[in-house]
Amino acid sequence: MTNGYEINVEDIKKDFPIFKINMSGKPLVYLDSAATSQKPQQVIDSIVKYYSEYNANIHRGIYDIAERATEEYTNSKEKLANLIGANSVRNIVYVRNTTEAINLVALSWGNTNIEKGDHILISDMEHHSNLVPWQLLAKRKGAILDYIKLDSNNEKFDMENFKENLEKNPKIVAVTHASNVLGTINDVKYITKEAKKHGSVVLVDGAQSAPHIPVNVKSIGCDFFALSAHKMLGPTGIGALYGTEEILSSMEPLFGGGDMIDAVTRYSHSWNSLPWKFEAGTSNIEGGIAFGAAIDYLNTVGMEKIRRHEEKLVKYALESLESIKNIEIYGPKKDETSIKSGVVSFGINGAHPHDVAEIFNSEGIAIRAGHHCAMPLVTEVLRKGAVSRMSFYLYNNEEDIDKAVAAISKVKKIFHLE
Ligand code: PMP
Repeated sequence: MTNGYEINVEDIKKDFPIFKINMSGKPLVYLDSAATSQKPQQVIDSIVKYYSEYNANIHRGIYDIAERATEEYTNSKEKLANLIGANSVRNIVYVRNTTEAINLVALSWGNTNIEKGDHILISDMEHHSNLVPWQLLAKRKGAILDYIKLDSNNEKFDMENFKENLEKNPKIVAVTHASNVLGTINDVKYITKEAKKHGSVVLVDGAQSAPHIPVNVKSIGCDFFALSAHKMLGPTGIGALYGTEEILSSMEPLFGGGDMIDAVTRYSHSWNSLPWKFEAGTSNIEGGIAFGAAIDYLNTVGMEKIRRHEEKLVKYALESLESIKNIEIYGPKKDETSIKSGVVSFGINGAHPHDVAEIFNSEGIAIRAGHHCAMPLVTEVLRKGAVSRMSFYLYNNEEDIDKAVAAISKVKKIFHLE
């Protein structure tokens, strides 16, 4: 560990088998954790262990391995509840991902609570998964979709504009905790407090925050919080919707079937208790169990430490990039790393982001280029067709950033740029 970093990246990397591979004949430098994170051996092993030692359906059998599967799956929810400061597993609904969590709210809560002419408030920083479900709901109901504008630097919310929008008493305010393009960490506690003064329900998209910064849903005060396991060292196909007991109890299940019922007669049924009333059919059992293993891993390192590590890295990256000519950086800059997650989007004047990503690939570096599923932000606000993005996690270090900077020099050389 050097320069005050508290995480020993060399040791961490040993837990992630992917770092044994080469890409384009070079050791993999993975700078795309905002898309999906890599998985430690402990998470991979937990899946193998489930299938080879106690594979059985949950909530059904009373034999030993079925009870163990049920216990491990429920334990995983308990771990998640603790990680994000929820009261209990009753607040944690397992779904496929953040997208499904938000759609569940828009469909179940939205269908009952939104009427013609109601306002729904989101922002100009949203990923499509916290945007399209609200467009669909607004269309179904004849509701009005409003956007919190960004400040003049396109870095943060324009708080005056947020307050103006609140005057319309939106039924729901749904905003991202951390932007997957700008890296901006929004003050969702303050946003929730202000929105509550207007009687709004608040949903926080935690896809980019839960993996990287300590989260406490009770301290935020939101009604809903959505996240994806695959961005936090866990497997794909599992994510969670946190909801307060009050709001989840008031909602109807979206799907009917096995496991979500208490009793069924020919013409009626009653619902299972929370959170199971929202989980119809056989769950992603391996996913839930492996998500538990991912949370164990995060806890062993410590969320505070992960955040400090990424803040140092992002500062280093911004300092390095800001000194390069003809580079445009989007989102908060090096003097505002306290509100910047480990996401750095940039453009090199004169080179298309897709070409940049190709050249990075030839150096063994994985970055993403495109609109990052945030088209209104990238095309309408930033007025770009695409941007390049590097994103960091606990297995990245300054050496990775130095390699990225060297790749930028290569881009400039190939395109004869200054
Ligand atoms: N919200 C944000 C801010 C995201 O970055 C992402 C993933 N890129 C999502 C939502 C959607 O996550 P998922 O694809 O896992 O549903």
